[in-house]
Amino acid sequence: MREKIVAGNWKMNKTFLEAEEVLSEITDLLSEREDQDAKVIVCPPFVFLELAIDLSYEGQFDVGAQNVSEYEKGAYTGEVSAEMLRSMDISYCIAGHSERRKYFHETDEMIKNKVDGLLRNNISPIFCCGEALSEREASKHFSVVKTQLKKSLFHLPADEFQKVIIAYEPVWAIGTGVNATPEQAQEMHAYIRELIEQKYSKEIAGNTTILYGGSCNAANAHALFSNPDVDGGLIGGASLKAKDFAAIASALH
Ligand code: PEP
Repeated sequence: MREKIVAGNWKMNKTFLEAEEVLSEITDLLSEREDQDAKVIVCPPFVFLELAIDLSYEGQFDVGAQNVSEYEKGAYTGEVSAEMLRSMDISYCIAGHSERRKYFHETDEMIKNKVDGLLRNNISPIFCCGEALSEREASKHFSVVKTQLKKSLFHLPADEFQKVIIAYEPVWAIGTGVNATPEQAQEMHAYIRELIEQKYSKEIAGNTTILYGGSCNAANAHALFSNPDVDGGLIGGASLKAKDFAAIASALH
């Protein structure tokens, strides 16, 4: 189902006490929102998932994980399985983030396995796709995103695909302070929706949630979210401060 969503990706930040403090602040600030239409998801590091779930009891935000193992279970030291996440009532998990593709050498095939594992456990993947700067400069951004979708998502049957949230995150915009312009975001989101229509149907394309990610902040969120094909954002740096994150969530209506 197409939803308005603002999701925060904390990456590898915060201590236990800092996490507790910011989550309490987020709860207070979000409860003051006039428009409660948008769903808010917080994705802290694994070790704070239980804390976040405990603090989500007031219903102001949902909790997601940042990563999952591509394996089901067994001798994979340090890994966390989709089944484990499900057993903690986690409903969302990021997959295919560009930092995991770059620093942990995740391939489209590995990401496909993660997506499949999450869906087997009824967890919605927040699937990240997006081109590097050199690829945009070479006008390859559309084909790069198309390949990522084809290789890691488009094998899914329609009923499973409909549980996926897509996040378009141009790599050159992540953590750089240079966001895609609202026009660039809209153009790519419309293209992604067109690809979904070709692969599945117009109805499914219209029902898919497509988020924008990359240096989205309180100042530019409204302009980005005002586009017809932008359903919200995946927020990195600006999700670490409760005030900024709540302001971004309020920009989505
Ligand atoms: C991200 O890491 O998903 C992201 C969008 O980061 P930032 O908002 O910091 O660019």
